[in-house]
Amino acid sequence: MKRIAILGSTGSIGTQALDLCRLHADEFEVSALVARHNYERLFEQVRAFRPRLAGLVDPIPMSEIPEDLRFCQWVMGDEANHAAAAEVPCDMVLVAVVGIAGLPSVMDAMKAGRDVLLANKEALVTGGHLVMEEAKRQKIALLPVDSEHSAIFQCLEAANGNPVRRLLLTASGGPFRTWDRARIEQATLADALRHPNWSMGQKITVDSASMFNKALEIMEARWLFDIPSERISVVIHPESILHSAVEFEDGAVIGQMGTPDMHLPILYAMTYPRREPTGRPALDLFSVGALHFEKEDQERFPALRLARECLRAGGAACTVLNGANEVANEAFRQGRIPFGRITETVEHVLEKLPPLPAGTLEDIYEADHLAREAAGAFLI
Ligand code: NDP
Repeated sequence: MKRIAILGSTGSIGTQALDLCRLHADEFEVSALVARHNYERLFEQVRAFRPRLAGLVDPIPMSEIPEDLRFCQWVMGDEANHAAAAEVPCDMVLVAVVGIAGLPSVMDAMKAGRDVLLANKEALVTGGHLVMEEAKRQKIALLPVDSEHSAIFQCLEAANGNPVRRLLLTASGGPFRTWDRARIEQATLADALRHPNWSMGQKITVDSASMFNKALEIMEARWLFDIPSERISVVIHPESILHSAVEFEDGAVIGQMGTPDMHLPILYAMTYPRREPTGRPALDLFSVGALHFEKEDQERFPALRLARECLRAGGAACTVLNGANEVANEAFRQGRIPFGRITETVEHVLEKLPPLPAGTLEDIYEADHLAREAAGAFLI
């Protein structure tokens, strides 16, 4: 039995991971479950999976924990992520929380010698160099869950030590792929949440519409695969069947295909290097029929250009982009700003803040704080 702790268990990735724990109940034991505030769903999960530890980052009084769920240790507040990632006995930690909150959890899990299944991309976006150094130092596996990075990881298994020429990071193009800039700027939340292929949490779905999700993924790939951003190409692929690909020196392109369904990359990280059934329908190429590929459009979606500029600038520039985007993304979801203002906010904050260092975790949290503050002030 492999013991797994799941941070962000009530979210889109977390609930799919639990589907897989249920499907392969003879292989996985759930040791910890943590959510932020959805205590009702967490209660159901604790009842079904009986972890040793459960936690809520937004605390509730212990008196509100139902009698039949008091068999496990309950941790309330920020301490919950740390306890689940580093204290409760387990073999691997699935970090599926949203935002920079993933960074300390990834570091905690690695320092405790646990393998990390990484859904949370913001940990690498903000602290990529520190996370990769720690993974090397602790000799732990850092297994990507993000579908594109899982695809590249799977393609690299076929590399046999051969150098990579280029990574081809695919993107569906989101709901606004064919919209002109003026229409994109006025898009509503309902428009932005209408993702053509993937069903995901709200924050990442809005990021897919603005292409900030792909911007974060370029940064994630840069650290995970130790490759400069000039050798990461974004390929718009509206069907989301090719999940990404790797080009080698002889021109061979090896890609990974599948249905747009996160169960596969989640399970591959959980069972690596074995492949097991996901219990989901397999890819049927005949029903897909045709695959299309288009160039990125930086004019309508400046996020990709901003990502590359931040990677070139170094220091905490990627953290600043991420922090400003988190604030603007949330303001849009709360109906406080129009869609076009998300990119404007990020551009404004990147221009306003001076170059900031990112040598330590404290530097990164400080840069994140300054970015949020500047974004908040811009949006008043
Ligand atoms: P959701 O919003 O669906 O779920 C987020 C989960 O994290 C919820 O369980 C939420 O709890 C919990 N959470 C939020 N903040 C904290 C915190 N500070 N500490 C502990 N738990 C917290 O997000 P997704 O599942 O869509 O995404 C999770 C991560 O995975 C993101 O980084 C995203 O970019 C990445 N990802 C997601 C994909 C997807 O298909 N969904 C695909 C690839 C990557 P509560 O429910 O109580 O709010």
